[in-house]
Amino acid sequence: MALHLNKRILVTGGAGFLGSHLCDRLVEEGHDVLCLDNFYTGTKANIAHLFAKPNFELIRHDLAQPIFLEVDEIYNLACPASPIHYQYNPVKTVKTCIMGAIHMLGLAKRVKAKILQASTSEVYGDPAVHPQSESYWGNVNPIGLRSCYDEGKRCAETLFFDYHRQNRVNIRVVRIFNTYGPRMHPNDGRVVSNFIVQALSHQDITVFGDGSQTRSFCYVDDLIEGMVRMMQGPNDFVGPVNLGNPGEFTILELAEKIIHSTGSRSRIIFQALPQDDPLQRKPDISLAAEKLEWTPEVNLEEGLKRTIAYFKTILTAS
Ligand code: NAD
Ligand code: UDP
Repeated sequence: MALHLNKRILVTGGAGFLGSHLCDRLVEEGHDVLCLDNFYTGTKANIAHLFAKPNFELIRHDLAQPIFLEVDEIYNLACPASPIHYQYNPVKTVKTCIMGAIHMLGLAKRVKAKILQASTSEVYGDPAVHPQSESYWGNVNPIGLRSCYDEGKRCAETLFFDYHRQNRVNIRVVRIFNTYGPRMHPNDGRVVSNFIVQALSHQDITVFGDGSQTRSFCYVDDLIEGMVRMMQGPNDFVGPVNLGNPGEFTILELAEKIIHSTGSRSRIIFQALPQDDPLQRKPDISLAAEKLEWTPEVNLEEGLKRTIAYFKTILTAS
């Protein structure tokens, strides 16, 4: 049996979709997990099942403010991820990205903690290179509606690398591509949750634009595995590394798959494409495969099946 060392691990944004799954995994491994969240988009319901665990603690805190804690590792996930939520208060989104990164990097520097940043495929913007590999610098509008998030995340990456070079902070940066699964909020606004909720309630499925734009969808369990491998990996591989499922689908294909999988009577309707909506997105994951021996295992059909089953339970309960 592998020797397993128990660590104190801080998960910022731990009550959100990805953060709650990460807390589950780390609590299960026996670590002392500190979940920090201000419940901007996350919910207590996502982590309520962990409250009785002796190795789980919840801290209500806004990461735009400093905090002093003793930890060995930090996973920095705090930030609204859905366009409707990060655009609701764009100045706050920038503060969370940048002040949050500065506060967590300062903490990591002081207590010599290892720190992982949940960055995003949005750093590539509307990509002129396809698929996107880590060496591509991106095509991002600095003054558009998505910029608070895209540029906030880009600046956070800059801060991570500057603290690494200047202060020898032990960093990891992962660029996460569209991830879906149980515990996405039904009103989250992202495409997978929107379409499933619409299909299960037989409402019109809202495809933005003509639906020919593409995305690659990663199931949450695969993503968490990649993140943990990156944190545990060797100190000379700090990233950035893409984590995502390279299967590429148009948004119209996704709508049709979800209608089929739910047996829904929903019709597809077309609405205006939001500003700066990237036309195509697909990760090149050869770096993650080589350095972390990581490739996703759950295909879209199977992942949708599990996610639809989750939404059925929460929609019938409400
Ligand atoms: P989410 O909105 O479900 O979770 C974000 C969490 O951060 C929420 O619990 C929210 O309450 C918390 N939060 C927001 N602002 C905060 C603040 N100022 N202080 C403390 N907590 C705050 O989103 P998610 O999908 O779980 O995303 C988690 C992270 O992963 C984000 O950083 C996001 O940018 C990144 N990411 C996610 C995806 C994806 O497809 N899910 C893709 C790329 C990157
Ligand atoms: N989208 C859509 N209908 C919706 C929600 C989203 O057609 O109800 C589209 C959106 O325009 C984008 C894609 O689905 O092209 C993915 O959107 P999401 O908000 O999930 O993530 P992101 O744009 O950040 O990749």
